[in-house]
Amino acid sequence: MTSSTEGRTSLVAGYLQHIADQCADDRSGAVADYIPELAAVDPDQYGLSLCAHDGYLYSVGDTTTEFTIQSMSKPLTYAMVLGRHGSDVVDAKIGVEPSGEAFNEISVDSRRRPRNPMINAGAITAASLLLPQHREVEPGVVDEAFAELVEFYSACAGRRLTIDDEVYLSEKSTGSRNRAIAYMLDSFGVLGTDPDAALDLYFRQCSLRVTTADLAVVGVTIACGGVNPRTGRRVFSRRTAQRLLSVMTTCGMYDGAGDWVTSVGIPAKSGVGGGILGSLPGQLGIGVFSPRLDDHGNSVRGVDTYRHLSADLGLHMFNITRESRVTIRAVYDIGEFEIGTEWTGAQRARLRGCRDRVRVYELQGDLTFSGAESVLRRIDLDIDACDIVIVEISRIDVIDPVARRMVLGAGSTLAERGKRVLLVDPDGVVREGLRRVENGSGVDSSSKIILPHVHSTMEAAVADAESIQLEGV
Ligand code: GLU
Repeated sequence: MTSSTEGRTSLVAGYLQHIADQCADDRSGAVADYIPELAAVDPDQYGLSLCAHDGYLYSVGDTTTEFTIQSMSKPLTYAMVLGRHGSDVVDAKIGVEPSGEAFNEISVDSRRRPRNPMINAGAITAASLLLPQHREVEPGVVDEAFAELVEFYSACAGRRLTIDDEVYLSEKSTGSRNRAIAYMLDSFGVLGTDPDAALDLYFRQCSLRVTTADLAVVGVTIACGGVNPRTGRRVFSRRTAQRLLSVMTTCGMYDGAGDWVTSVGIPAKSGVGGGILGSLPGQLGIGVFSPRLDDHGNSVRGVDTYRHLSADLGLHMFNITRESRVTIRAVYDIGEFEIGTEWTGAQRARLRGCRDRVRVYELQGDLTFSGAESVLRRIDLDIDACDIVIVEISRIDVIDPVARRMVLGAGSTLAERGKRVLLVDPDGVVREGLRRVENGSGVDSSSKIILPHVHSTMEAAVADAESIQLEGV
């Protein structure tokens, strides 16, 4: 399985690859077979994409393979109707309580409202709210509503999405259960439009084709409060984003929602096509695809991948209690530091000529996976212009285990490129991690580890940088 990122191979790409390799062997579960098009997909496909809050995309495996969005469309149509009608109107029609039942259960609450927008009853009602609210639907009205829907979904994904016509026609011709749901809702007076038109729109939305990269971008758009960071375009409001994250958390994973929140803790929505869309508020979007499903209808490898992402990268949402973006406080070279008096005149002259080849990154706050990811990527961008990187972490209060491993791992990845990393760590926040890495544990324990030199003061790090420069990096 190959990984690619938009830049050079990075530590983070390596972590994702490692997670993918661990999940790829599981061949349990079965592909959805309620329509022939889904039954015919290659069950071994597997892809994982992750999109950072600034739009940077990591990809492992089959990340350009298209599959149908299916139920992962539900949060997006819900976002559209919230934007169009406001939450009061929408709440009068669709609840926000988890149903604890299967997605296609004919399930309504005591007010005869579908319990939430993530089950079919709620999603068909949401689709109905995109159509004119009267019974006589003229020809072409569904086409028009669908064109707007595609526009909206495409803005979330940052590229034009297209429909899989075969899946759509199959869904339409076999959808007795959904028809039953729509007609029941109609008999309760929930639908203000022709139920067949609502169903038609719902079947079309389920049949849009996406890749894991699209899902990751949709996820990050939700995570970033409705702004797609790859296009810079606001697609929906912060309020709507908050609502989507809430219902994805409580109702997103079919009847497995409680277990999901406990063990993974990443707001998500799965689809029977094998995709799982995830969104970690303020931080990341995630897309995973693998067609074999478990008894709940969730992708087996998809669920496993999310469990690993949560545990190995510290991504459980309740792990995040603080601002994780503000991490780089200052970046400068060592020109302002006096050159060490221990060197000879010739050495001092040499050092004077290369002060700008040593770059200092001062970090602050609490360092999580996302923060460390941004810092390492920033260093990666600058690296050609320097030989030695000093990472100053005296202002880091808390460092997540994964972020510690990432900072330590940077020593190895940069050494491969002939660069050196020094750490200024007066409080010893990485020391424990250092011991563990030396003992051979950690995500990247299989590769050869070159640890950064750790110093207690900036002056000691500058002196070390000078001796490395004199030796030749
Ligand atoms: N088109 C499918 C249905 O409504 C979507 C189901 C799903 O992904 O959960 O039955």
